Formats: sequence, C-alpha cells, structure tokens
Amino acid sequence: MRIDIITVLPELLSGPFDHSIVKRAREKGLVEIQLHPLRDFSEDKHRRVDDYPFGGEAGMVMAVQPIENAIRHLTSQRDYDEIIFTTPDAPVFNQGAANQLSTLQNLIILCGHYKGVDQRVRDHLVTMEWSIGDYVLSGGELAAAVITDSIVRILPGAISDGASALSDSFQDGLLSPPVYTRPADYKGWKVPEILLSGHAAKIDDWKHEQSLEKTRRLRPDLLGDSPN
Ligand code: SAH
Repeated sequence: MRIDIITVLPELLSGPFDHSIVKRAREKGLVEIQLHPLRDFSEDKHRRVDDYPFGGEAGMVMAVQPIENAIRHLTSQRDYDEIIFTTPDAPVFNQGAANQLSTLQNLIILCGHYKGVDQRVRDHLVTMEWSIGDYVLSGGELAAAVITDSIVRILPGAISDGASALSDSFQDGLLSPPVYTRPADYKGWKVPEILLSGHAAKIDDWKHEQSLEKTRRLRPDLLGDSPN
C-alpha cells in the first residue's frame, strides 16, 4: 500500500510515522508513506499557497492551483483509489472506514490549513472527506496522522500478534474489556479472580460481559441507543 500526504507543514508529520508499528510496517515494506510539501507546487514567485477569501471573511483560504498541481503530479504517476481531504465539516472517521481504506492500494491525503481549501478543490479534485471528530484543529496534519496510523496498524503483518488488532475496541462494535498484567496483586489492587482461573470459556464470557457493560455505560450509541 502507498499513502501520499500533501501538506504545507511536512515537519509536523516527520515524527508520527517514524516510531512503533507504523515505522516497522514501513521497514517491512507493507506501506510506503511519502510527504509532499505543497509549496513546491505553487506557481507563485513567493511560493504562496493561500489567498484572501471572496466575500470578505476573516482568514485565508488555500488556493486551487498548488493543490491541483500536486494532485496531478501524483495521479500522472499511478492510479489512486481515493483522494481524501481532512476537514471538520465531514462525516466522522471510524474503525469501519479504517478497515475499508486498509484494503486499498494507493491513497492521497490532503491536509487543509487556515480557513480550509477553496471549495472547488472539494468539488472537483477530492473523492472522499473525513473529520476525526467534532473539534477544530489548526491543520489537517494531525488528522492525516490519525487516519494513516489507524489504517497501517491493521495491514496484515503490521502487528505481530495478528489477533490483537481484531480484539481492539470497535472491531466488533463494542469497546474492548479491561486488560491486566502481572503482578496479580499490586499493593492490594487485585486482578479480577476470573482471569487467574485458567478457564478459557468463562474468561471469554467475562470479557464479553465487561465489553457490553462498558459500551452500554460509555457509548450506548454503538449499541444503537441514544447517548446519555
Ligand atoms: N474553517 C474550517 C476549519 C479550518 S481548520 C471550518 O470551520 O470547518 C484548518 C484545517 O485543519 C482544515 O482545513 C482541516 O484540514 C484541518 N482540520 C481541522 N479540524 C479537523 C478535524 N476535526 N478533522 C479533520 N481535519 C481537521
């Protein structure tokens, strides 16, 4: 798989992809992640990528020209399955979307800045839009990092214990149960007895019960009920 990220601030993204599971996935050749500085595609002599908004609003808007050039540069080299724009006014990204995107070959993620991008980019160039939650960030880089991380960690082979990604929250529509490690008794804080019983079937039942209880309490919307 290949993920190309178009950004005015590549520096912001040098960290997130150089550690842990994503770093190993890159080293194993499961994913290639490339950053493309948007200013390199500006035809303006000062390499500007933004301009004043029509209609006299506050803030700056990312112009079409550099973005179109960046996207055309990439699409002339290979076919892309999706050209994703990160933006708060879009459906909220979730595990189902991560699962689906992880089955694709080539993705572009466009990071917005300032007031966002000229609407014509969204109308004519972008094929998919995601928000990472109902709050506003200063740029799309952190959103692109979140989306990329969630996709890469579920690529087959990215996590050594393959079953582990499947037992995470949301994969079965539930929050994951609590987890514990040694010691069984830490200064009087005890691990639930059942986990020490060695009784696999009962442990599975307990975990499922815990998942259901936690989901009912914290995220009833996942069970189709309205949130508290
Ligand atoms: N004026 C816009 C917000 C711009 S924030 C609005 O009110 O909707 C600047 C950029 O940060 C956006 O273009 C987007 O790329 C990114 N961004 C901000 N919040 C985000 C979120 N919740 N999810 C994904 N991207 C976000």
